[in-house]
Amino acid sequence: MTPRYAEDDLLPLGGVMRALFCPRSAGLRYLEEQWEDNVFTVEGSLRHERAHEGPTREARGDLLIVRSLRVRSFDLGLTGICDVVEFQRTDGVGVTLPRYSGRWMPYPVEYKRGRRRENPFHRVQLCAQAMCLEEMLGIAVPVGALYYGMSARREEVTLGDDVRDETRRAAELFHRIMREGVTPPPEFGPKCDGCSLQDLCMPRTARTRSAAGYLDAAMAPEGSDPR
Ligand code: SF4
Repeated sequence: MTPRYAEDDLLPLGGVMRALFCPRSAGLRYLEEQWEDNVFTVEGSLRHERAHEGPTREARGDLLIVRSLRVRSFDLGLTGICDVVEFQRTDGVGVTLPRYSGRWMPYPVEYKRGRRRENPFHRVQLCAQAMCLEEMLGIAVPVGALYYGMSARREEVTLGDDVRDETRRAAELFHRIMREGVTPPPEFGPKCDGCSLQDLCMPRTARTRSAAGYLDAAMAPEGSDPR
């Protein structure tokens, strides 16, 4: 199958979650390269730094833990870094790995701040990582996990058709925003309360125009800043 995107077209994987949260936020962050930290994003960054601490590879019996693994998908047009990918040795279907005998099943784990909660943005980000791994390794990745730092709990996530479709739509939305090169208008709502870009965005006073073109590609559920 011909890849949909070329190497030069690949966009940051994290932008998918941001575009889904709020298209304007993706434009401000990735088109205008504007960024402001708030308590949530600083905390989130610290969690990610901790996830990336330690050796990049660590073998524990039949488990191989790989940290900071760069991944990409020419189908989604995305590239990014997985916090952690665990490879479980298997007697069945699996991939071969350099320097390790046997076959292994990949299992991505994404680190998040706070406590476990339903968050569609986190699932989409995890799914995008899994779809990158599938394309790179040529094997299905049906499940992954979100790790919530404050509660130190894992939530296993089944990566079914629904979240995969949503991930594709969100990736297309992000590519459209970047291709058009115009920061989308604000969509003032409850989600703005937790958005780290609120001071830059000025959602109550910024110029407004129809957002229909952006909204028809993906839902933009309300919630806090996805990071
Ligand atoms: S403040 Fe609101 S409209 Fe502006 S980028 Fe953030 S979520 Fe979007």
